[in-house]
Amino acid sequence: MPDPTPKPLLTGETRDSLVDRLQSMGEPPFRAAQILDWLYKKRARSWDEMTNLPKPLRARLADAFEFMPASLAFSRQSEDVTDKLLLELADRSLIETVVIRAPQDGVGLTHSRKTICISTQVGCAMGCVFCASGLAGFRRNLQAGEIVAQLLQVCYREDTRTPRARTELASFDNIVVMGMGEPLANYDALLQALAILNADWGLGVGARRITISTSGLVPRILQLAEERLGFRLAVSLHGATDDVREKIMPVNRAYPLGQLIPAIRTFSAQHGRMVTLEFILIEDLNDSLSPPEHLRDIARDLHAHVNLIPYNTVVGLPWQRPSAARQERFADVLRSARVSVTLRLEKGHDIDAACGQLRLMTEKPR
Ligand code: SF4
Repeated sequence: MPDPTPKPLLTGETRDSLVDRLQSMGEPPFRAAQILDWLYKKRARSWDEMTNLPKPLRARLADAFEFMPASLAFSRQSEDVTDKLLLELADRSLIETVVIRAPQDGVGLTHSRKTICISTQVGCAMGCVFCASGLAGFRRNLQAGEIVAQLLQVCYREDTRTPRARTELASFDNIVVMGMGEPLANYDALLQALAILNADWGLGVGARRITISTSGLVPRILQLAEERLGFRLAVSLHGATDDVREKIMPVNRAYPLGQLIPAIRTFSAQHGRMVTLEFILIEDLNDSLSPPEHLRDIARDLHAHVNLIPYNTVVGLPWQRPSAARQERFADVLRSARVSVTLRLEKGHDIDAACGQLRLMTEKPR
């Protein structure tokens, strides 16, 4: 598929690459610092808001760069604390970005911890059988600027509130790269985007507050381990034996648990950090065929945290969420072995929060 936009994306530029581009336009390096300050600190939404740049320069910059490659097509707020944004890209592709708020004790939602879940691809090629994102197949990788734009769109949306709230919402608590797509299959664009989100001249989100989630691309996990960038890793396990994992995640045929588990161990050793094992609980599939004892043993071996996620049903797919009692029974096996485990609370079930579902429902009528 051809490049969806012929101009470089401003949101995909690092400070160095922007300096280079500006120098090729005959502009001094300090202009890059001015532009990045407007973009990421003051959150200007157009060149015209950058009032300390000469007007003729603003016009030249508008010709040279795509200012914002994603626009808000649609948003839905759930009855709990999850907002879902559907963003449209220049080629009319749709991607999802999710804001998850966790209220802090006693201070309510206005002071909640905020996690932003971002996408890295349009669709997904990994073919996990329970997932809405994979249903329509893979369309293309996102560019770094399209990944970064998701965070800015969240800021823009929040910034419609009072100036006081705007200041409070200036930073995110966490970013999880866990939306549509397999992040490590779009490795270079992902790392460029995370460098921009992490940089002090960018959004300034600390590496420890950024989690990359993968379905288990072993060579890329090992590459990421080598790079020692400080980002956290979450692995979507979803099956604790090869039999079950292969049934639901085709990636397991290429990288079975015998390869995946040592790769996770290597990452943990290089980073000195606990890896998270994501495990979606699907009734009569992985909650019984892959008994919790298998997951317990893997988690103990890796000293990993386990995040149990009750399945969000997807229209058109047969899978169901287990009852609350079954979820608790599963979690109890892990807890009683002193495995660090969270059983995720309901978030966004009423807004089609399953990965890729909102996009799917919006694209169908198109
Ligand atoms: S669960 Fe993740 S890796 Fe699997 S198909 Fe969905 S988006 Fe892709």
